[in-house]
Amino acid sequence: MLKKLTRFYYPKTIEEACLNLGNREQKTVLIAGGTSEVLRNDNSIEALVDLSKVKELCYIRQESSYIHIGAGTPVQDIYKSKNLKGPSGELLKTAAGKIGSTLLRNSITAAGNLAGLFPWSDLPPVYMALDAEVVCRKGKPKRTVPVQRLIDTRAAQFLSEAEIISEIMVPIYGKGTGVHFAKFSKTSNDYAMISLAIRLTQKSGKIEQARIAVNAITATPTRCREAESVLEGQKATPELFAAAAKKAVSGITVRRDIRASSDYRREVLEVMVRRGLQEAFAKAGK
Ligand SMILES: Cc1cc2nc3c(=O)[nH]c(=O)nc-3n(C[C@H](O)[C@H](O)[C@H](O)COP(=O)(O)OP(=O)(O)OC[C@H]3O[C@@H](n4cnc5c(N)ncnc54)[C@H](O)[C@@H]3O)c2cc1C
Repeated sequence: MLKKLTRFYYPKTIEEACLNLGNREQKTVLIAGGTSEVLRNDNSIEALVDLSKVKELCYIRQESSYIHIGAGTPVQDIYKSKNLKGPSGELLKTAAGKIGSTLLRNSITAAGNLAGLFPWSDLPPVYMALDAEVVCRKGKPKRTVPVQRLIDTRAAQFLSEAEIISEIMVPIYGKGTGVHFAKFSKTSNDYAMISLAIRLTQKSGKIEQARIAVNAITATPTRCREAESVLEGQKATPELFAAAAKKAVSGITVRRDIRASSDYRREVLEVMVRRGLQEAFAKAGK
């Protein structure tokens, strides 16, 4: 493992990190928390650029209409943050608190969990349910893209050479919005068999906007768009939630692994979505 590694860069700024990454003479790779490095098993890597000393990537700020989360922010900081309020804050904190163990949460970063996309990654469905945007920097120049685009293309393909994710921007939702997050796993420290994030916005009992995003049950984070369509524009009833939960299951390709069969996951997801919708709607009414 990493038999050819000869250089370890510790940049102090984003610009320095991008400069180090642009080194074409050696196969150079970026790490943040470094928790997935062991899975990469790539013996051709010659240099690592470690973002852990780039302090300007570590922050959580709630401004007028967005929560700004620095790419290098440990997910434990998200879980424990006192700055995160409202439905978006609640969804982020709940999901972050369910990632791995405390030890791991202190290393895993807000962007590492998104860029190193695994079926068990818990934050990507949350970012999708909240319609988050991702800020990418290549030195000074920056661009902001919907998180969905980054997930669809996968970060490694989406980012250009020497470009990094610098921030996740999460819209703030106000009155009328309710959220729900649930992780279904064998133990609280284990990888998810199902991760589910829901956001509902209602007005006078009618659902205006619905977001249902899953991971782990699917190979990559996926929006249950057919289920969302069943809900939007309709008056909320238990029957409507039951119908949407059925659609959530039928509209996705369910995977199986050593933890559970696809049939089992389908059955569980339907119940999780139905209950999650009820809970999110109840909160949206408060
Ligand atoms: C035992 C164990 C249990 C785990 N359990 C869970 C769990 O329950 N839920 C969960 O969600 N996760 C879990 N994880 C974490 C998950 O598997 C990944 O390891 C983690 O999300 C990677 O985050 P990181 O910050 O460590 O990124 P790294 O491992 O450092 O990097 C991951 C990838 O992202 C890229 N990257 C990182 N930061 C940036 C950036 N700013 N811009 C561009 N690219 C970037 C890197 O180049 C690399 O390709 C677990 C990990 C372990 C080891």
